Amino acid sequence: MSIPTLEQVTAALATVNDPEIKRPITEINMVDTVDIRADGTVDVRVLLTVAGCPLKDTITRDVTAAVSGVPGVTAVNLDLGVMTAEQRGGLQEVLRGGQAQREIPFAQPGSLTKVFAVASGKGGVGKSSVTVNLALAMAAQGLRVGVVDADIYGHSVPAMLGVGDSRPTQVEELIMPVPTPSGVSVISIGMLKPRRDQVVAWRGPMLDRALVQMLSDVYWGDLDVLLLDLPPGTGDVAISLGQHLPNAEVIVVTTPQEAAAEVAERAGTMASMMNQRVVGVVENMSFLPCPHCGPEHRLEVFGAGGGARVAATLSQRFGYDVPVLAEIPLDLALRAGGDAGTPIVESDPNAPAAVELLKVAQALLGRGRGLAGMQLGLTPSSKF
Ligand code: ADP
Repeated sequence: MSIPTLEQVTAALATVNDPEIKRPITEINMVDTVDIRADGTVDVRVLLTVAGCPLKDTITRDVTAAVSGVPGVTAVNLDLGVMTAEQRGGLQEVLRGGQAQREIPFAQPGSLTKVFAVASGKGGVGKSSVTVNLALAMAAQGLRVGVVDADIYGHSVPAMLGVGDSRPTQVEELIMPVPTPSGVSVISIGMLKPRRDQVVAWRGPMLDRALVQMLSDVYWGDLDVLLLDLPPGTGDVAISLGQHLPNAEVIVVTTPQEAAAEVAERAGTMASMMNQRVVGVVENMSFLPCPHCGPEHRLEVFGAGGGARVAATLSQRFGYDVPVLAEIPLDLALRAGGDAGTPIVESDPNAPAAVELLKVAQALLGRGRGLAGMQLGLTPSSKF
């Protein structure tokens, strides 16, 4: 068999994406040298962005597999190096695409990323569970999905996505979102703290900075959907988000309970005050399917009607239809899936709770990617 050519090996390397940056390693200057010996052995040196890169095993596996597949290759010797500060600076520039720094890509005119903020009136109603399950449901449809966990009280999203202890890799000032097993990328406000167990008293300006950092200093790449898990209530994060991402659409999560519904209405109204559109209400913990008689018998543990009430109030207040997107039953598997880092839409997609969550994703995506519903700023050039 003939000796493989450099073009063939380079083409094979171009099929390998960096797991964090999600772009071919050849495009982002990670391939340092390639040597092809007469006996078909290929020596490749790949530069990691940082020493101790948590994903070096993935890169090793993918590079070896890709190069081994080239006809004539008899062996692959992979040597992993680390970029110098100068090389990282160059990479940062490539990733920023020559853009000015600290710009929020999702707020730029023409951005095709759909941004959904998941809000609730109070904690513990299942806002984070809804966020992660929606993220997975959308990723399962082949969409590129990013999640920003902006819940200063809980920041439970990384654990629910199976990357609880991960810290993001940093390339100079640029932060790489943490890739999860399901393909969703996540960054959490908890990851910005020096230590995980540290208690930070977030104040308004600090929170604003943290939110901007998670949106503009993180290399998100070209996302189809960005989901934000907001802290409960109508606080500083909701205001900052309204200022930085007025095009975000808001999903309000509530339980059927009267008290939860009332505060959820306030969270929805807050979004509208910030000129964001509320696209629907998700009622969670709607009922417990009776373990004895079967699912027809609904035990209304938290009462009934909260979701419908929030939807009706917001529709009337805003003058447009705010639908109830789903009524998610209580399900032990949903809780267990969150705790184990394997959300229910992935671990048991046929469970009634998962079916409801998939329905929400469908309803949100059915409205199309990108330009649908966006202000295009076009001026008619002639009268009809
Ligand atoms: P929030 O983000 O509103 O504080 P979480 O999503 O963290 O709420 O949910 C609070 C707890 O309730 C979690 O342990 C979660 O697993 C559980 N939970 C949420 N929704 C359900 C449900 N439909 N059935 C069972 N447990 C649920």
